[in-house]
Amino acid sequence: MAPSSRARLSIDLDALAHNYHVIAAEAAGAETAPVVKADGYGLGAAPIARRLWAEGARTFFVARLEEGEALRAAMAHRSARILVLDGFMPGAGPRLAAAGLTPVLNSLDQVAAASRFAQHVGGSLPCALQVDTGMNRQGLGRAEAAALVQSDRLAGLSIELVMSHLGCGAIPDHGRNADQLAAFRAVRQLFPQAKASLAASAGAFLGPDYRFDLVRPGISLFGGGPMERPDPRLRAVARLEAPILDIRHVGAGELIGYGATIRADAATRVALIGAGYADGVIRATRRGGQAWAAGALRRLYIVDMDLTVVDLGDASAQPGDMVELLGPHALLDDQAQAAGSIAHECLVRLSTRAQRIYLGAEASAGA
Ligand SMILES: *Cc1c(COP(=O)(O)O)cnc(C)c1O
Repeated sequence: MAPSSRARLSIDLDALAHNYHVIAAEAAGAETAPVVKADGYGLGAAPIARRLWAEGARTFFVARLEEGEALRAAMAHRSARILVLDGFMPGAGPRLAAAGLTPVLNSLDQVAAASRFAQHVGGSLPCALQVDTGMNRQGLGRAEAAALVQSDRLAGLSIELVMSHLGCGAIPDHGRNADQLAAFRAVRQLFPQAKASLAASAGAFLGPDYRFDLVRPGISLFGGGPMERPDPRLRAVARLEAPILDIRHVGAGELIGYGATIRADAATRVALIGAGYADGVIRATRRGGQAWAAGALRRLYIVDMDLTVVDLGDASAQPGDMVELLGPHALLDDQAQAAGSIAHECLVRLSTRAQRIYLGAEASAGA
């Protein structure tokens, strides 16, 4: 019997290192710069970035200023380059500078604010510039970028990286990829001295045209397939398990759980598992999601706050046995699809109620 009914979240740093090298080999010739925003996709930015540093990563991306400050502190004594995707928010200059963070400038307003700050403090401020190539999310317009290089509005700024982001990278044949690629090629010509980056995880697997100087993988480091379905080259980093609390018989046609929609088709046995949506199991996973119990993938009936109910059939199992709700068997992309979501959301929802265990070392010998 497990000593506690608490769920357990193991985070496998060796699997992370494996995935990093798979991506780095795929993107050979380009730098692989991990994205560790949202606390390393919910898995702990500090241990993740430190292990990736030990594997050779030198450039990291976060979303928020605060994430950058926390990562800088976690990376003490390491000369990591840390870029902040949110860029240069009003008044952020002193904090960005104090933590040695590089802003990704996303608009003319951000360019102006960064330039004012740089001229105020003197010297040249390293920045990245994001240009929108058709996703209509972050980034300067292409005409804005072209006008910018003709102007004096970059005074005080050293644009080290020009980047853009793909809207359909996970669908290799989608025509939007080629359109964005062509647009990005034109944009990067405007900044011949800067490095260029277009690819996140999905783009890193789209072939040499999409790699440029630097790729920015997030989800595939954590085992999410670049095409939003399981990829056998990648290993699961997060594994959520919880013990069986009880096993019950349910008669044919009987209702299970809240409401009156979920019925057992035939008489069966169900296991009550000690993890629910408060531990990060997405409630909608009950529609088609599976759990790995007693050596097989088995249907999920319900996901409540503290409990998940799994169909055991006549498998032999007993209270205290651990069931995997996410991990090397209950695959991230499959669970995400069952939940009507994507792997990114399944990971960042994993909560702190589950006990966290890191497997593998943060730093390899000598790093
Ligand atoms: C989140 C993000 C990434 C990483 O995306 P994945 O799909 O997790 O690989 C890369 N670039 C930008 C701009 C992002 O916002």
